[in-house]
Amino acid sequence: MIFNLRNTYFRYAFFTLLISIFLIFFLLNHSLFKKNKQVKSLNEFQIETKNIHSIFIQQLKNRHVKKNLLIKKGQSLNTTLSNAGVLQRDILDITNLLSKYLNLKKINNNHIFQIIMNKKTGKLERLTVNTDNITSLHIFRQDNKFTANKIEKVLYKKTSLSEGIIKSSLFRAAQKDNIEAEVIVEFARIFGFEIDFQRDIRKNDIFQIVYNKYVDDDGELQKNGKIIYAYMKNKGREIELYRFVDQKGIAGYYQTNGKSIEKALMKTPINGARLSSTFGMRKHPILGYNKMHRGTDFAAPKGTPIMASGSGTVEVVKWWGAYGKYIRIKHNTKYKTAYAHLNGYARGIRPGAKVRQGQIIGYVGSTGRSTGPHLHYEVLVNGKRKNSQRLKLPSGRTLRGSDREKFEISRIKIDVMRSNLIN
Ligand SMILES: [Zn+2]
Repeated sequence: MIFNLRNTYFRYAFFTLLISIFLIFFLLNHSLFKKNKQVKSLNEFQIETKNIHSIFIQQLKNRHVKKNLLIKKGQSLNTTLSNAGVLQRDILDITNLLSKYLNLKKINNNHIFQIIMNKKTGKLERLTVNTDNITSLHIFRQDNKFTANKIEKVLYKKTSLSEGIIKSSLFRAAQKDNIEAEVIVEFARIFGFEIDFQRDIRKNDIFQIVYNKYVDDDGELQKNGKIIYAYMKNKGREIELYRFVDQKGIAGYYQTNGKSIEKALMKTPINGARLSSTFGMRKHPILGYNKMHRGTDFAAPKGTPIMASGSGTVEVVKWWGAYGKYIRIKHNTKYKTAYAHLNGYARGIRPGAKVRQGQIIGYVGSTGRSTGPHLHYEVLVNGKRKNSQRLKLPSGRTLRGSDREKFEISRIKIDVMRSNLIN
């Protein structure tokens, strides 16, 4: 009896345990385990597809190589293609086809050739060349034969906003922000009327640029357009400039009050963006301004372009003792500017030549009595040398009447565009 009872007890216990294990297993499996399992497998799936995607891209990249070719002076297209690794047979087929569209004898470095080669087979897959600014010729391999296709390039205008904080120089800040050199050079030129980029720039000065970009179908940048808006916070002072084309069709940059930034003379007659000196370097005696010096020095890398700070007539172009290679421009009966220690003169700069404001007249050097590459710049007022940086030049014109009204509308439009780009 005891044994039986025990037996029954064990039997109950055994079944209860079995049911419990089964229940626990079922519950865990159904809720927690399964849930985890599902998430896990989804992750695995995503990782897998991601891998497949990158493998696919990688394979494409591995399979094809894109090269830009430039026809060097005295070099034929055949040689250029051959140097790029295009097979002789392909060269023959391609030049035959090209000659139907282009005069191959007149091919020069204005023609930009781009080729796509198949890495595995070493064969040319596609060749593209611009026949003029907007049309290009695409030659591609199809069923082992080359076919030509004339394509008119469509460029799309895109407005872009860039801003940055200056830590050492405007150029470095721009580089960090991936702003193309030509854009920042233009920005520096515009502000060159008001800001001396060697002496006035302070650490943590802020700049903002809104400008147009032209991109092709692939979204690749083809050319930069105009700067529409330029802003600088310099030494706590804010300057906002808006591009505006007046009724006569003349474009200029105006402040919010309708006053033009442009003056008869620039404060920075040099590619301001390239002034490389850091803030500490400005304390160096040769770079600073002092009364005895009677000029302003801009330290910049050798070869940096120098601009005519105002329009006028070239008066002197010659080696002038301690000044080294020297240029002097007469702007009007009152103002003249001089540029010294140049490395060289720009083409066409000779006595009597007419120059426009902003035109490149020479390049930074260290000729004459000079301790390093820099531009020595002088402003002569009625024949007397004056501190160019403290000179009070008559300010630019102010928009009036209907020009002013149109400017206000255009300014609001730019501000709206700007706030859309920020958000
Ligand atoms: Zn000097």
